Amino acid sequence: MRRFFRIEHNGGPRYVIEEQGAWRLLDGDIFARYTAGEAIASTGHKLLAPVLPSKIVCVGLNYKDHAAEQNKPLPPEPLIFIKPSTSVIGPDQAIVLPEEIGRVDHEAECGVVIGKRATRVSQSEAMDYVLGIICVNDVTARELQNKGASYTRAKGFDTFAPIGPCIAQGLDYNSAGGLTVEGWVNGERRQASSTKELIFPIPMLIAYISANMTLLPGDIISTGTPAGIGPLHAGDTVTIKVEGAGELTNSVR
Ligand code: ZN
Repeated sequence: MRRFFRIEHNGGPRYVIEEQGAWRLLDGDIFARYTAGEAIASTGHKLLAPVLPSKIVCVGLNYKDHAAEQNKPLPPEPLIFIKPSTSVIGPDQAIVLPEEIGRVDHEAECGVVIGKRATRVSQSEAMDYVLGIICVNDVTARELQNKGASYTRAKGFDTFAPIGPCIAQGLDYNSAGGLTVEGWVNGERRQASSTKELIFPIPMLIAYISANMTLLPGDIISTGTPAGIGPLHAGDTVTIKVEGAGELTNSVR
């Protein structure tokens, strides 16, 4: 397994390749050709959002237990919406609760980072277009959403798309076991499921979405959240964990 981090290094962003726990600076282009360069310490760096996606395509109601807790019927085909690039923040940055919009929830999700331009990709070739897996917190203004606001409005605020801490390559997310997906608030586990519970699995989502819109390198598909969503308050710390893809922690203010 290989993981990519993006860090602040000598005043600018740099990618790092992690293999067997050792870090090396990445020379070249993460989406094209690269080599592992100078070795550096794996601690003490400021972590940045691992990619700057042109869009995050989210999937709503993709776990049965979450659809049940929202009292919504299962969609016959994927329910997709977009979080704008301006909502992205990296690890350790603060989620900012806008004033007077009521309850705001965490949503722990397994994200898929697209590695190359994908238009009308078939399910069988879909995995060739994946760079790796990333933790996503699909932060949601639940009261606005339930009052009938569009998903874009309820989920598109600045800071409402924490991603990171890395992009993990070589994870077996389609196996019978799947990857565990967890959401923690203030050290308490609130969400726990697995990608094996996805109603629409990852290759199907890539085929479905790329038939609708071109996915660019760095774009993210966020595959939906399991049951256990709940409110965030100022002062909280929220952590999303996807097995093999690290832990994404953000404060709330
Ligand atoms: Zn979501």
